[in-house]
Amino acid sequence: MTGGYEVEQFVETPDDDLICVICRAVLRCPVRLKCNHVFCKECILQWMKRQVKCPCCRQPIDQNQMVVLFKLSKSIGRLSIKCRNAQQGCRATFPLSNEYLHISNCPYEWQLCPHEGCGQQVLRKDAQAHDQSCSHWRQLCPMGCGTLLVRENQAQHNCYRELQQRYVAERRKQRAIAANLRRKMQRMQSRMAQIRRQINLLCESLEVGDLEIEAGEGTSAWTDANAASPSSSRRHHTNSSRVR
Ligand SMILES: [Zn+2]
Ligand SMILES: [Zn+2]
Ligand SMILES: [Zn+2]
Ligand SMILES: [Zn+2]
Ligand SMILES: [Zn+2]
Repeated sequence: MTGGYEVEQFVETPDDDLICVICRAVLRCPVRLKCNHVFCKECILQWMKRQVKCPCCRQPIDQNQMVVLFKLSKSIGRLSIKCRNAQQGCRATFPLSNEYLHISNCPYEWQLCPHEGCGQQVLRKDAQAHDQSCSHWRQLCPMGCGTLLVRENQAQHNCYRELQQRYVAERRKQRAIAANLRRKMQRMQSRMAQIRRQINLLCESLEVGDLEIEAGEGTSAWTDANAASPSSSRRHHTNSSRVR
């Protein structure tokens, strides 16, 4: 029965009074009985399935008088332990209570290659290198097109999503250029209108009437020609019918 923590885990050999007599390991979640003997909680609960007497002094156990020793549990948690991956090469030591934290980052922890069909155990520190060479490597296209990439098609994958994104970016750039040109044109137009107004004012102040007269004649001449044109074409039409 191994309810407690293996003695060998600890950097320094733990005191005898921290050892549970049932499992011969360091107390895990220690509880004290009425008789003052202390055991791992799990160990004494298992023991009580067979007999309800203290394993040390044979006094009957009253479960209502069992006390969980939180303080003792905490001070055991502060004891230094060696990493369980010492055999693989981890030299780290840390408080027992930090074990979970260390193991979840330990570079020497074995991990199963995540690629289906590989099944190889790899040390966490070697996972990346293995990933690069794993023949079972596969991954959905990171662009989100839904293609399952494997070693063979990874290089040739011509992702339509990627093309689409490039196209959209190009369109956006062109639209920005067009908008910019439009703004420049509007600025120029308003500048031109301003200049025209200034010229008009200048003309008025110099009392140069010629320009106005010329402009007026131009307009009336154009109107005359326009008015004359339907009648002239009609005349032309009647002429040609007369010829026929
Ligand atoms: Zn125990
Ligand atoms: Zn006892
Ligand atoms: Zn480690
Ligand atoms: Zn693999
Ligand atoms: Zn893709």
